[in-house]
Amino acid sequence: MVASASMPDADAASHWQAVSPTPIPTVPLKGALTADVAIIGGGFTGLSAALHLAKSGRKVCVVEGRTIGWGGSGRNNGQVIPVLAGSEPATIEARFGAAGERFNALVRDSAAVLFDLVRAQAINCEAEQTGWFQPAHSRAHLRLSAARVSAWGQRGAECSLLDADECARLLGSGFWHGGMLNPTGGHINPLMLVRGLAAACERAGVVIHEDSPATGVHKVGAQWQVRTAAGQLTVDGVIMATNAYSGELAGQLQPEVARSVVPVTSWQMATPPLSAAQQDQIMPGRHAVSDTRADLHYFRYDARNQLVTGAALMLPFNPARRLTAHVGTRLATAFPQLGRVEFRHIWSGYVGVTPDRFPHFHQLGPNYLAAIGFNGRGVALAISAGREMAKALSGAVTQDIALPFSAVKPVTLHRLARRVARGAMLWYRWRDTRPPKG
Ligand SMILES: Cc1cc2nc3c(=O)[nH]c(=O)nc-3n(C[C@H](O)[C@H](O)[C@H](O)COP(=O)(O)OP(=O)(O)OC[C@H]3O[C@@H](n4cnc5c(N)ncnc54)[C@H](O)[C@@H]3O)c2cc1C
Repeated sequence: MVASASMPDADAASHWQAVSPTPIPTVPLKGALTADVAIIGGGFTGLSAALHLAKSGRKVCVVEGRTIGWGGSGRNNGQVIPVLAGSEPATIEARFGAAGERFNALVRDSAAVLFDLVRAQAINCEAEQTGWFQPAHSRAHLRLSAARVSAWGQRGAECSLLDADECARLLGSGFWHGGMLNPTGGHINPLMLVRGLAAACERAGVVIHEDSPATGVHKVGAQWQVRTAAGQLTVDGVIMATNAYSGELAGQLQPEVARSVVPVTSWQMATPPLSAAQQDQIMPGRHAVSDTRADLHYFRYDARNQLVTGAALMLPFNPARRLTAHVGTRLATAFPQLGRVEFRHIWSGYVGVTPDRFPHFHQLGPNYLAAIGFNGRGVALAISAGREMAKALSGAVTQDIALPFSAVKPVTLHRLARRVARGAMLWYRWRDTRPPKG
């Protein structure tokens, strides 16, 4: 089996599309409608907020520009990770004080919250709460792992440090040096999860309109009007949950928010199913794994025992051939048991990167909130953040909301930043060869 010869693009069928049941489509928004709350964006953030609002008795309407899960939520690697990509807990507390402490607790519990929600809503999404492991790619980075285990342990997280031997047993590879294990994490089929969340929303009374890009949000008296090409929705509150795809489908929708995040292409790919003998040797505990590199090495089994992995590319030409060679070599080096590695699907999506590598939460007006910039770690966190946004719109006091809200800061020279972001990979690869700071 070889990689698809066709040029993969944002719409290329993903592995998840190939293996997930097709949902029943919804109708686009048409005419003038009313609701209590409008949610813009049908990914984990928007649907989690919608579900929690509907459960508290609010009339909720979701407008999604394409189809449910079309953004990052339906195309990601499906790793359920209760740790941020670019911020350590002490840095978050130093920056946001008590709100930072609440946010750290939100991150800490986010994987458990996701799996609890999946169980409570009986969502069939191939969920495996097998734990998340972050192996250290150098001995110096093992000290970073130890510092993280200590920092998260002090904040009540269930995590432990594995030494090189334990790590080699867990992974079936001596390629790494030990690492941080968090048993609350794991993996899911992200497209089945986001579609399952949408179904749970509908059961709770949420109305969903796909193929309905919001083109603007306007204040009309004490209310808001969310407009699409064919309709308008008058509501008391709005949540903008468009993450890395902000500005992609309708440039007029909050352009300053869209410019506060840089969409970076992340490529994903799946191997054919591994043999029983290979599964016995490689990651027998079926953990979700992503290492300490900035140019991440990551992989997990899916329900068919295929390894789902990926990488970023610096240059966009001929991605199928180059990714097959690059990621194939990467996997075969770590796991020689695999032999020559082939891939069945190659697809891509945008990761929403912020300059401070921290997710941003904004109050854009009275009862108008936005969440953006999960920096590639939004599977678990977006679901918990959606719940907190629902609380914020339901009148909870600041001390009960675990999100540090901040002002919108558009990235200077945003168009240029988008272009140079790919080049940052060169810098990341160099930085991965250096000991971590601190
Ligand atoms: C390839 C890839 C791999 C990843 N792997 C992981 C991982 O393993 N673990 C992890 O924790 N995170 C991962 N992430 C990140 C994670 O997928 C995201 O952080 C998360 O899905 C964000 O959810 P969201 O609901 O905020 O945004 P999205 O899921 O992107 O949803 C935003 C939605 O808004 C819609 N939209 C945009 N504009 C409009 C408009 N004007 N009107 C209406 N709708 C609009 C889009 O169509 C989209 O469906 C990955 C991301 C990518 C791209």
